[in-house]
Amino acid sequence: MPIATVNPADGETLKTFDALTSEETEERLVTAEAAFRTYRVSDFDERARLLTRAADLLDDDTDDIARVMTTEMGKTVVAARAEAAKCAKAMRWYATHARGLLADEFPDEEDVRDSGASKGRVVYRPLGAVLAVMPWNFPLWQVVRFAAPALMAGNVALLKHASNVPQTALYLEDLFRRAGFPEGCFQTLLVPSSAIEGILRDRRVAAATLTGSEPAGRSVASIAGDEIKKTVLELGGSDPYVVMPSADVESAARTAVTARVQNNGQSCIAAKRFIVHTDVYDTFAEHFVAGMRALKVGDPLDESTDVGPVSSEQGRADLEELVNDAVDRGANVLCGGRRPKGFDRGWFYEPTVVAGITPEMRIHQEETFGPVATLYRVADLDEAVAVANDTPFGLSSNVWTRDDSDVERFVRDLEAGGVYVNGMTASHPAFPFGGVKRSGYGRELAGHGIKEFCNATTVWHA
Ligand code: NDP
Repeated sequence: MPIATVNPADGETLKTFDALTSEETEERLVTAEAAFRTYRVSDFDERARLLTRAADLLDDDTDDIARVMTTEMGKTVVAARAEAAKCAKAMRWYATHARGLLADEFPDEEDVRDSGASKGRVVYRPLGAVLAVMPWNFPLWQVVRFAAPALMAGNVALLKHASNVPQTALYLEDLFRRAGFPEGCFQTLLVPSSAIEGILRDRRVAAATLTGSEPAGRSVASIAGDEIKKTVLELGGSDPYVVMPSADVESAARTAVTARVQNNGQSCIAAKRFIVHTDVYDTFAEHFVAGMRALKVGDPLDESTDVGPVSSEQGRADLEELVNDAVDRGANVLCGGRRPKGFDRGWFYEPTVVAGITPEMRIHQEETFGPVATLYRVADLDEAVAVANDTPFGLSSNVWTRDDSDVERFVRDLEAGGVYVNGMTASHPAFPFGGVKRSGYGRELAGHGIKEFCNATTVWHA
């Protein structure tokens, strides 16, 4: 994949970039190692000051970087501004909370004595340079979600961003530099994915985090496993959105539209499979389809656009393949299911709802990365849970019910890293984020996220 900005709204290549040579990559690894030697002993106040400064700068830059993101990957400019604001918030959250999250821990005195110690504690120390292999869908947020805790913990970051968002990748390096982080604390490596193996095997790289597709995750995890290096993987999802009879069905349908088409449908935590109790299925379907039909598809730079293009020609072709396969096997398209009229250029696809899904359809098992929803009718809660779990993924889940016993069943039985009740999944720095099954492992955000790239060190005194 060339490293280039190609506007998904019209297919124009706006800017191309040369990949780093191996000598240039080597220089950056040397710089990262040197940076870690001094940065690892900086104190929390200093790190917090720098990260807060980065948040302030990002706030000032919001309009400009939002346009860059929109031009590189097609999200609406309104969504891009919200993404920048979310990043600044997460930076401030970690600037405030990192010291407490990584405070020394003291086991019970009785246990300390039982271990034969006079005193003991656990301290959290940074690991070193962490390689972040990141996707284009939230080109700022995916990086900041990793970098804010990693930098607060005293690690340094090497970013290998997706090849279609090079300007956002370079902006991030510049942002952390302007905020005052010492040289080498955050570096962007403009390299193709074929260069990752060499970088990951390098002794100066301590660990890796990857957000993206399953094949990319499998590759990075295998190399890291071979090198005995820690990884965190966030590999997408096909989140269920269950609606039970006691729910506020109209509200569930309204939120379902947003949950499905956020980020032009290209979010790992977007609700993708809508599993509706038969008693409320018809009402839900009517409101949901009406909501999807009412969305304005168009130029993502236009403030009034709801849904822009998907990020690449391949991305749209993948969506079309999944929908066509379902139709060939007997599914019904309730709305959309084609390219919108009047768009000769760009990679647009109509907001789409497909019903009558059966297990042999690819769409039942694979992730739809675009504005395509699947709709299932179920007879009861047991069937809802069974359908919800009948997927290789396990990122998050959404359940709509006013019945507390339903909620407890879903919390007990849904195979996912999150259960969002009467709302849609949205990450927040205070809650851990990540999945089970093929959605990956490890957690980002909250205390769980900051500790992933720390060496939990036992200090024991005779
Ligand atoms: P990829 O997984 O291919 O890209 C994500 C990152 O991984 C990029 O930096 C990419 O670099 C890198 N990468 C790609 N292949 C490898 C590899 N073999 N080894 C190491 N790194 C690799 O995602 P795509 O953009 O191609 O999207 C494909 C599908 O992935 C989507 O349709 C969606 O299902 C899923 N996805 C999930 C995301 C999520 O948020 N969980 C985000 C994006 C995609 P480069 O760009 O240079 O290839």
